[in-house]
Amino acid sequence: MRLQGDSASVWNEKRESMPRAELNEFQLVHLRALVSRLESNVQFYRDKFSQAGTGADKLKALSDLSEFPFTTKADLRSQYPSGFIAVQQNEIRRFHASSGTKGKPTLVPYSQADLGNWAELVARSLFAAGVRPGDIVHNAYGYGLFTGGLGLHAGIELLGAISVPASGGKTQQQITLIQDLKPRVLCSTPSYAMKLACTLEEMGIPSNDLQIGIFGAEPWTNELGESLKTLLQLEPFDIYGLSEIMGPGVAIQCEQQRIRSDAARHLHIWEDHFLVEVIDRKTEKPLPDGEEGELVLTTLQKEAMPLLRFRTGDVTRLTREPCACGRTSVRMESVRARYDDMLIIRGVNVYPSEIERVIFSHPASLGPHYRIIISKQGALDQLAVEIELSENSLYMITEEQFKEQHIPHLVNAFKGALGLSIEVQFLPVGSLERVDGKSQRVVDLRDTGPKVGLAQTSFENNRV
Ligand SMILES: [Zn+2]
Repeated sequence: MRLQGDSASVWNEKRESMPRAELNEFQLVHLRALVSRLESNVQFYRDKFSQAGTGADKLKALSDLSEFPFTTKADLRSQYPSGFIAVQQNEIRRFHASSGTKGKPTLVPYSQADLGNWAELVARSLFAAGVRPGDIVHNAYGYGLFTGGLGLHAGIELLGAISVPASGGKTQQQITLIQDLKPRVLCSTPSYAMKLACTLEEMGIPSNDLQIGIFGAEPWTNELGESLKTLLQLEPFDIYGLSEIMGPGVAIQCEQQRIRSDAARHLHIWEDHFLVEVIDRKTEKPLPDGEEGELVLTTLQKEAMPLLRFRTGDVTRLTREPCACGRTSVRMESVRARYDDMLIIRGVNVYPSEIERVIFSHPASLGPHYRIIISKQGALDQLAVEIELSENSLYMITEEQFKEQHIPHLVNAFKGALGLSIEVQFLPVGSLERVDGKSQRVVDLRDTGPKVGLAQTSFENNRV
């Protein structure tokens, strides 16, 4: 039964509010069917199951899943282009891809049912964040092989909202659309939302009609969320997904889980479609709820490219505390960082998101544009952060005074948060390159000379 009116709080009551026992039974039935299909249709899994001495007949309970092998990004690359496809070609309706720098992209096929399920889960996600039929939704995720644009698009239309497929780039045109159509909802990467916010502010255009921001494809801090909330006067919601698993819509914050700067964000995962584990990266054993580790997902209902125990590389923890919204699913903490993004500086593990948190919580309202530079002096790694000044930074103060006041404060804050000495530099307004869609945040000059990394895109789940 679908409850889709304004008064309802849940899009698909039957699935989203299923009692845990019933949900677990549902998951086990689908997991058994999945493992049987993988055994029959995918040589990679047939070989892996046989090596591990396991298979569908060994699956008596959900906990037996821990005896099954993982699937890694390297496995996906090794089987390029079609080793993981589990259906006949005439059952495939679309391909998306993640564009990796480590050789070929990962191609992800979808059957008709996969596309339908994806739209359903995006509709559920948007509804959970407060989007309703008739809302105008400005969708500034890129359309194309990237799953963001088309993924959101189908869900917006299924929900009965109005899609404005703005895609990425052409910021002036997007500003005009926002000014004229007055959308209630903005979907984009947080970096691009920040770019839109700054451009709107520079042009003196109010964004009063926006109420909901659906931000994903990059990990973002609560501090960045608070900035977007202030600049765009909307409520930011974190949407999670990754192209190997589906695209956006794997999980989202509900209206009860709005951001609070002092609290972790929690996202409902649609457990009738995804079986969730968090594992210890070293021992590869599942961790209890509340402990931080790597998120591992199994697709229960996907047809064209189902994956068993896919290691996402995302750092999170789970909670099963009941949520006031009535949804019964497990919630994951918003992805704090990605293992693949982790920088090792003088033996210390540093996540770029921790650096961002320090910058955005600085009282002088620094950012949003900054860059992390890693270099080597002799045998020692050096970490520097370049932060661009904003138009308002130098109000009633000279640049020298600003530096004198704020550099020691920031150096101390970094030292406190990361346990590392970090050099801080301020740059004039407009000096850092703006990238549509994703932010370019880390420049690693060690070893191979300049190597630029983009902040990670969860939907693409790649190392662009
Ligand atoms: Zn909830």
